Amino acid sequence: MSVAKRLQPFGETIFTTITQLAVEHDAINLGQGFPNFDGPEFVKDAATEAIARGENQYPRSFGIGPLVEAIAARFAADSGLTVDPFDNVTVTSGCTEALAAACLGLIEPGDEVVLIEPTYDAYRPDVALAGGIPRYVTLRAPDFRLDPDELRAVFSSRTKAIIINTPHNPTGRVFSPDELELVASLCREYDTIAITDEVYDHMVFDGGHLSLAALDGMWERTITLSSLGKTFSLTGWKVGWAIGPEPLTAGVRAAHQFLTFTTASPLQHGAAAALQAGDSYYDELTSAYKSRRDLLASGLSDLGFAVFVPQGTYFMLADHTRFGFDDDVAFVRHLITETGVAAIPPSAFYHRPSDGASLVRFAFCKDKATLAAALDRMAKLGA
Ligand code: PMP
Ligand code: GLN
Repeated sequence: MSVAKRLQPFGETIFTTITQLAVEHDAINLGQGFPNFDGPEFVKDAATEAIARGENQYPRSFGIGPLVEAIAARFAADSGLTVDPFDNVTVTSGCTEALAAACLGLIEPGDEVVLIEPTYDAYRPDVALAGGIPRYVTLRAPDFRLDPDELRAVFSSRTKAIIINTPHNPTGRVFSPDELELVASLCREYDTIAITDEVYDHMVFDGGHLSLAALDGMWERTITLSSLGKTFSLTGWKVGWAIGPEPLTAGVRAAHQFLTFTTASPLQHGAAAALQAGDSYYDELTSAYKSRRDLLASGLSDLGFAVFVPQGTYFMLADHTRFGFDDDVAFVRHLITETGVAAIPPSAFYHRPSDGASLVRFAFCKDKATLAAALDRMAKLGA
């Protein structure tokens, strides 16, 4: 079956649909997660200097030396794990490519893959591309915790992999050490690979981020994915990476070398400079996002939404049912066309769309004036 046919059930990505509608209706876009402020000057300077210097030909397929070294150093500082930059790190074109390469490189047709719903929109298509069979576990409001019995029930000797995202888009959950230990114990018991998506690891508001790879017996069975886009407000650069032991890295690289072969050279130089940032950069990022979160959460509650305050990420789920719409798609359509604010209908993140029907996702990677303007516009909802 062609890739197009295999991906047909997933239609157009919700981010394209909503961004287009937002543009058509001149709406404030709290849908697709991209900042409306720019990345740091020192990072942009490093990329433009690399262009001027002539770093414009194919770089090493798995990432330029200074970048893989910087990724390994940052990972060691964050997770406590020492990795070899050249053997364990692979640079990809965004975390999106890393996810596809991990699925294509590590999953055999017919293998079962555990997905935690709501899932980021690329996971189901990536598993389908690899011929894997998804087994779903659902996080439920209000606290979106992993249910141990539900998780245990989907694991078996057929479970090749689990994709886990912490901090979690769209719920904003930061999985607790207990929840991650449960995942780890099942992976050890069933010899399962963990593909962990940690793109929001520097947006944790209460407590800290824990990498699954750092738990006992997990390094050898975990591939840790991340990217530059969120942490450095450069989502359009699409520089990502995968970190893992050599056998898993070999799978990722087998796919990567023929998907994209390599990633834009000047942007890799910019990314290498970014990852030299000291702790104060990360502290300021987190505290700025925390205050944007608090502004949006209190504004939405004042408007009558039931808000699920996120522990991490720059997304916030809320329950819209008080406003009387049939489902999330109807609500978001009204929000865009009648109030001029765009958001994401979370049914796109579930294989059974009805599971997301009462929810709406707002992105708060916008300056405070924009968030305040969006809240003003939404005041019409109650009128
Ligand atoms: N994973 C998650 C959970 C995301 O929210 C995103 C958002 N873009 C990605 C992966 C993709 O990252 P990138 O832009 O680096 O491809
Ligand atoms: N990660 C972003 C979000 O969840 C969107 C990325 C994309 O458009 N593919 O909003």
